[in-house]
Formats: sequence, C-alpha cells, structure tokens
Amino acid sequence: MIKHYIRKELQNFKPYHAAFRSPKVKLDANESPFSLSENVKNKLIQWIEKEENINLYPDTDSTELREAIASFWNVSVENVICGVGSDQLIDCMMKVLLEPGDRVIMPTPSFSMYRSTAILNHGVPIEIKLNEDYSYPIDEIIETCNKNKPKLLILCSPNNPTGNRLPNEQIEEIAQNVKCPILIDEAYGEFSNETMIPLIRQYPHIVVFRTFSKAYGLAGIRVGYGIGDKEMIDAIYLTKPPYNLSVLSQKIATWVLQDEQVNQKRIEYLKTEREHLIRELRNLPNLRVFDSDANFILIETQDLELSEKLEARDIFVRSFAAFEGTVFLRITVGNKEQNIILIDALKDLLI
Ligand SMILES: *Cc1c(COP(=O)(O)O)cnc(C)c1O
Repeated sequence: MIKHYIRKELQNFKPYHAAFRSPKVKLDANESPFSLSENVKNKLIQWIEKEENINLYPDTDSTELREAIASFWNVSVENVICGVGSDQLIDCMMKVLLEPGDRVIMPTPSFSMYRSTAILNHGVPIEIKLNEDYSYPIDEIIETCNKNKPKLLILCSPNNPTGNRLPNEQIEEIAQNVKCPILIDEAYGEFSNETMIPLIRQYPHIVVFRTFSKAYGLAGIRVGYGIGDKEMIDAIYLTKPPYNLSVLSQKIATWVLQDEQVNQKRIEYLKTEREHLIRELRNLPNLRVFDSDANFILIETQDLELSEKLEARDIFVRSFAAFEGTVFLRITVGNKEQNIILIDALKDLLI
C-alpha cells in the first residue's frame, strides 16, 4: 500500500546498501589502513574516564572542531561548517539550492552520491562526460552551465573513481566564467598537492568540501567539513540538522586534526605506497593503469571476473559495470602488507 504514496521519482530508486564485511584485505572503499594513533587513543581514554557530557546534547555548531579546522587552514571559524560526513553537506547544499526541476551539473564517471542526492532533492542531474583520459572538458562545462542555468556545479578533485585532479588554474577558469555556486569536492585532497581552499576569498561562489573519512582514517565516526565565504557557509547552515555531530565525533576529529605529525607521516607513507603499487601494476600484462593523485588506483582489464577471483582470495576491491569486454576496478592503496598480498594475487591470476 505504501507504494502508492511514495514519491514518483523514488518508485525505481535504489537505496544505498553495501554489505558490511571484514575481508582479510579490504581495498574497496578508499578507507585508511591506519586507525587511531597512540596520542589520540590516550586522549579518548582520558576523556571517557572523566566524561560528563554524554547525557547532554552536543554543541550543535561543533565550535571546537570548527576552530581547529579554521586554524589549520588559516581561515575564520565562520568560513567553516561541519557535517556527518561530507555526504551530509552535499545533501544540505542541494536542499538549500534546489526547487523541483532545478539542474545540477556534475562530471561522469564520478562519485555516485551527486546524482542520487540531486534526485532525492527534486533536482535534475546533468552529467558531463569526462574526456577520454578523464581530464575535465573545461569549455564544455562552461558552455553547459551557461546554457542550462544550473543551481549548482559539482567538481570532484581528485576525482573518484578516476584518480586525476583538476588543476587549480582550470577551476579558476571555470569559476571566472560560471556564475552559479560551485562545489569542489576535495575528499582526497590530502593526497594531491593542490587545494582551492586558499582561493575561497577570491571566489565567493566556490565552496570546498573535505572529509575525515579518507586521509584521516575516521570513516567510522562520519565527519566532513566545508570551507567557503561566510555567506556561502551561512546558506548551507539553513538546512544543517541540529546536533548533527555527536560529542564523540567532534572530540575525536579535533584531536586527530591536531595530531599533525602523525597525519603527515601517514599521508606520505600512502603516497609512496601508491607510486610503488602503480609501478607494480604496470608490470602486469593486460592491465591499463591510470595515474592517481588520490589513495586509490583505477585499472581497466579484459578479465571480467577479476574482482570475483580476488574476492575468492578474501581481497576486496571495487568493480564498476563493464562496457563491452572490459571492466574497471578501483583499488584502494593499503598498507605495505596488504599491497603485497594484492600484487601477489594479481601476478598469480594474470601471468
Ligand atoms: C568518500 C567520499 C566522500 C564523502 O565521504 P564522507 O565519509 O561522507 O565524508 C565525498 N566525496 C567523494 C568523492 C568521496 O569519495
């Protein structure tokens, strides 16, 4: 019966499900192989021992965490908003902007949440195909924006799942020629050498989203943030749910951000492993291996069952629907041990 009452555009909508699994080698969700550092673990234990806040609602504005983020990026606290993952902020942003039928322009292939979140918020996604080498078609993006008058343009850099970044100068070229709000999703920004955050003063219609789920190893506590001009941040605040971040999420994210030496070391480690993994993958036959500025590597193979064969060995990677005769796999860069297990398995399967 409920079916007759469900919104039309959700009749064929697929809700997000992902099996919750703990394989031996989990390289399918771009998570960090590192968990809490000793420093952060000790702070957490001390806090739990003298904790007196769990019975109270948390600070709805996540002030302490926003202050830490603002000081990290040398912006003011009013330039920062925090969400339950950057996913929540993407949703808030669309809720603020979209009236039924409004358009959202986004790249493809890219993060699937852009499309589904736009639909959930009564918007119409317009997907712009990336170039053959996955670079962004700058002129086409500008033209499509000017023709379609979207409420929002989303750019993902480095892009998931392709791994390439969109250089700042190209983002600036777009920003100078496009009037609508522009969301730059830098979920993997820590692994690339570029960010638009210092440029938000120049471009008040740009907002940059980042997350603690990837480089900071906090996917389990769901914290993301946005940085932009005060007017932009105030706008997103209109739809931010109250008390969105738990006391514990706010605390842990603050401590982790302040653990700068550990973070730097871990990011450098993963970047070194990434380059090593790319070299190893390129030594294997019949694989196309893309460059990456993120913590994952996209490969293309003719072996349509490669992902299942890895799964049979308890190694999980993400596979994407095949075009004629080829399939794409996105492999998260793991720790040394995990990467060796993966390469050994691939050698066994492909050579
Ligand atoms: C993982 C990811 C996010 C968001 O992750 P949260 O856990 O919700 O912060 C956002 N954008 C892209 C492209 C991602 O890959």
